[in-house]
Amino acid sequence: MLRVTEMFRSIQGESTHAGRPCTFVRLTGCPMRCTWCDSEYTFTGGEHFTTDQVMQKVRDFGCRLVEVTGGEPLAQREAFDLIRRLCDEDYEVLIETGGYVSTAEVDPRAKIILDVKCPASGEAERNDWTNLSRLRTDRDEVKFVMVDRADWDFAKKVIAEYDLEHRTKAILISPAWGQIDLQGLANWIAASGLQVRMQLQLHKYIWGPDVHGV
Ligand code: SF4
Repeated sequence: MLRVTEMFRSIQGESTHAGRPCTFVRLTGCPMRCTWCDSEYTFTGGEHFTTDQVMQKVRDFGCRLVEVTGGEPLAQREAFDLIRRLCDEDYEVLIETGGYVSTAEVDPRAKIILDVKCPASGEAERNDWTNLSRLRTDRDEVKFVMVDRADWDFAKKVIAEYDLEHRTKAILISPAWGQIDLQGLANWIAASGLQVRMQLQLHKYIWGPDVHGV
């Protein structure tokens, strides 16, 4: 059984897929506690569904793009089977993962959006750095959520150390909602000359920062 917080159809709010119609399967639970987490409602509760039931819901929503997210979706063993079955049915599958659980067993047809936790998250010590070695240039993206200058300096160091400009489809620089000056961050990015992409969370501008399931 899978423990699921919510399933819904909306538009993708982040990554290079932002703006596309997308079905979201948000799994319950996360072993991390990022200071700026906007998904705390996923930590507890949820409803149990069989993988068959989730698959049927996804079919009913009728989008070819499906994101499996959380919480931390890979913290549930059954999620790996769900991802494989979605790929078997030719869905374009995005996995948004917090970077703590190994991605080694994720079906290689799925596209990984890997968070690298920066210092202000309070969880930087728990990054599984082996996940960076598995990123693929044709499909995977890496995301850094920023709160302050120390986070940006950390991201630059990781980008250089792991040669991420040449090893990922995109490097996403994402301001934590309401916690960092957007113009300041844009200026740091512009001055760096790095091949990164500043991204705003589209869904929060459309529906507001505290609304979920839309
Ligand atoms: S990994 Fe994601 S869901 Fe888990 S605490 Fe951090 S931001 Fe929240």
